[in-house]
Amino acid sequence: MKQSQKARLKLRCPIVLGREPYIAIPDGWFDLVYAMCAEIEDIAQQINQKHRQRLFLPRIIAISVESGKLSCDVINRNKDINVLLKKVRMYSAKRCMICGDDAHQFRDSGELVSRCETHRAEISG
Ligand SMILES: [Zn+2]
Repeated sequence: MKQSQKARLKLRCPIVLGREPYIAIPDGWFDLVYAMCAEIEDIAQQINQKHRQRLFLPRIIAISVESGKLSCDVINRNKDINVLLKKVRMYSAKRCMICGDDAHQFRDSGELVSRCETHRAEISG
């Protein structure tokens, strides 16, 4: 992820990304990650307004690829966040890791990857 993208993400999500999370994602998934973080941030902002319980606000600890899918580790998560994380995990299998286009998952030297038709051609063979 580019520094400018990281800066954009942190600006949009001051609460949930406030603990310097570990982030390692392919470029094609940036939009997906941005939308996910923004949604978690909105939930956190609501909790913050209602309860002022800063200790119990959701915080993202890590965002990475796990078994070919997007994995996001969040502490203090509620049901809404659990549902969102599951949804995003599913979406990530259908987004090209390189460009973000519609994709399918398949194995590339033993590892599951998501690739669109164009980028699939680059590694098959
Ligand atoms: Zn692609």
